[in-house]
Amino acid sequence: MERSLNTPLIYFFIVIKVEKKKCNICGRVLPLNKFSKNKNNKDNLSYYCRDCTKEQKNLYFYEKGNEHYEETIINKLKQYSDIKIEGIDYDKVVNTRVTMYDIPGVFNNLLYDLPIFLRKYNFTFEEYKFFIQQCKKNKFWIEPKV
Ligand SMILES: [Zn+2]
Repeated sequence: MERSLNTPLIYFFIVIKVEKKKCNICGRVLPLNKFSKNKNNKDNLSYYCRDCTKEQKNLYFYEKGNEHYEETIINKLKQYSDIKIEGIDYDKVVNTRVTMYDIPGVFNNLLYDLPIFLRKYNFTFEEYKFFIQQCKKNKFWIEPKV
């Protein structure tokens, strides 16, 4: 449809100031709409971005038997090109002594800790799972921090 010359043209110039906030888990600086509401906080927003909140929920519910747990972790790890998911060298794992403070998810968020742990000990995700299984059976020494 052609616009008649008599039609007044109205231009709207809308300047939107986009405020941002840093996520306490992944560290990304994101627009405020990437954070859920949380009335307990000063700015009424969650400390964690929506992606991380979703991951947290998946992990939390795993404790109650959630099938998305491993999928959530693997999806996260696939973002890092230097981390391998599959492959187990049992000898390597058995002979590795891990500092207690390095065990993922003990002192920090699991998804934050795990990539750091895998790099430090040169483990694949499968090796990590094997390691944790063995720890739960008390089979390996875990060295306390000196
Ligand atoms: Zn985040």
